[in-house]
Amino acid sequence: MTSDHIVALSDCRSYDQAAVDRAVAEAARAAGLPSMTGATVLLKPNLLLASDPIRAATTHPAVVRAAARAVKAAGAARVLVGDSPGWQALSSVAGKTGMQDVIASEGLLWADFSDPVTVDLPGGGMMRRFELAKAVADADIVVNLPKLKTHGLMYYTGAVKNLFGCVPGLRKSAFHLRFPGRADFARMLADLYLAVKPAFCVMDAVVGMEGPGPNNGKPRDIGLILAAKNGFDLDWIAAGVIGYNPADVPYLAVAAGDTRYGFEPSAIKTVGEDPARRVVPHFQRVRVLKETDFFKRHMPAWLHRLARNLTVARPFFSDRRCVRCGACVKICPATALRFEDGKNAPLVDYSSCIRCYCCHEVCPADAIRLRRLP
Ligand code: SF4
Ligand code: SF4
Repeated sequence: MTSDHIVALSDCRSYDQAAVDRAVAEAARAAGLPSMTGATVLLKPNLLLASDPIRAATTHPAVVRAAARAVKAAGAARVLVGDSPGWQALSSVAGKTGMQDVIASEGLLWADFSDPVTVDLPGGGMMRRFELAKAVADADIVVNLPKLKTHGLMYYTGAVKNLFGCVPGLRKSAFHLRFPGRADFARMLADLYLAVKPAFCVMDAVVGMEGPGPNNGKPRDIGLILAAKNGFDLDWIAAGVIGYNPADVPYLAVAAGDTRYGFEPSAIKTVGEDPARRVVPHFQRVRVLKETDFFKRHMPAWLHRLARNLTVARPFFSDRRCVRCGACVKICPATALRFEDGKNAPLVDYSSCIRCYCCHEVCPADAIRLRRLP
């Protein structure tokens, strides 16, 4: 059996390092981790923000450590770790997420994601080029280390969405402005996957995040390490484990059956744990809204914007919870947020808000709720 469409699932019930090492090595072997002899390998975990690993917002350091050991065993000459967090300095993210310790103790190097480079993508479905972190383009091999979580915009985040961190810093915001709807943002993400071309993916699903992910949800035991060569394959299986119909995840729907992405759900073979037996009961998912393509096609643009404004969940800010850190104001691509005297939390201009949920993603105080109008 060719390993190109294998998704390996290994049981792993804790972050005890020996258990994670065993599960990552087992899944990597089963899914066909390629030889990396002499290569410079970049590990790309999810380092969304400075958050204690216990909160399950970031890839656990034990998984990054185990992946570093696996790629070294596969022959890697240099191993780097990098990401571009939402808005905070990498130094604060590195310490809080436990990455600094992994890098120092395993003899790894930090990859600087601040310098951009243009990467052409002649075979993309929608995009023709991307500005990626130069460190991503310079690596011989990228190994993608996502965390399994819910996500306000994409419903689910895993291997494909994790690569959005390869876009340096606040350049990410420009993509939200350019592609404010779910469908187009999903097409962009699918193309980004092609531009980054990770050779292998290892997912931290030992503890995932349910509820209002990707930052303010709750940790939920899942007990799995997943590995695959193709991130779409991996996400299809992982989304099913937390109870989604994977075809409801917008970027999986975009890429399914499209030869550009090498992704055909019927070709996926799973090995190891049976995903059907590992579905997590009552996992709190983000509610799937069917996109209003019909209305988009048949309504004038202004009316579609109005309908979207009224029907798509909007961010509501809690004065009580807000700690006035300013992260949401800084990251908002539509400059729809501002502080005003007499109010603790920022005010939202809903006519400018594009419902990208970047504010929700970076809020460290769980002060933002996504709700539709009653
Ligand atoms: S207010 Fe929040 S959801 Fe609206 S555009 Fe700004 S960051 Fe996006
Ligand atoms: S709402 Fe959240 S992100 Fe925005 S200023 Fe308040 S605490 Fe910071």
